[in-house]
Amino acid sequence: MSSNADIYHEMIVEYSRHPSNFGKIENPDVTYHDSNPLCGDSIDIFMNINDNKVSDIKFHGRGCAICMACSSVMTEIVKGKTIDDVKKIQKDDILGELGLQNLQAVRIKCALLSLKVLKYAIYTYLANHLNDTNADALKQEASALY
Ligand SMILES: [Zn+2]
Repeated sequence: MSSNADIYHEMIVEYSRHPSNFGKIENPDVTYHDSNPLCGDSIDIFMNINDNKVSDIKFHGRGCAICMACSSVMTEIVKGKTIDDVKKIQKDDILGELGLQNLQAVRIKCALLSLKVLKYAIYTYLANHLNDTNADALKQEASALY
């Protein structure tokens, strides 16, 4: 019988081979890029936002298995959610899906890059499109992730 650790490991390998929502969106409502130079992870996200909901999200780039798996999970969680719900997503929502809550510090940036990019992207959208003055909190949250 497989242990939970084996199952999570298999999920990460599977996501890294076949990432979810991988690709680009032409003329997206918002896009954001960031990288984790320590590991070489580099991702872009693209989102379309309609009626205050993320109607489509894709990510593109390259990264280690943990980065690709967490980016995949992030897009699966975000797709179809309202901006308010997306703003509430915390790191454990993503790490928990893959059993990575106790990830060693050296790999945490791989895991959280996608969430950081997501928070900055939503911040950029709110600040630029809606002149939302509360968006600054999101920027602080993003920079505090790691
Ligand atoms: Zn990495």
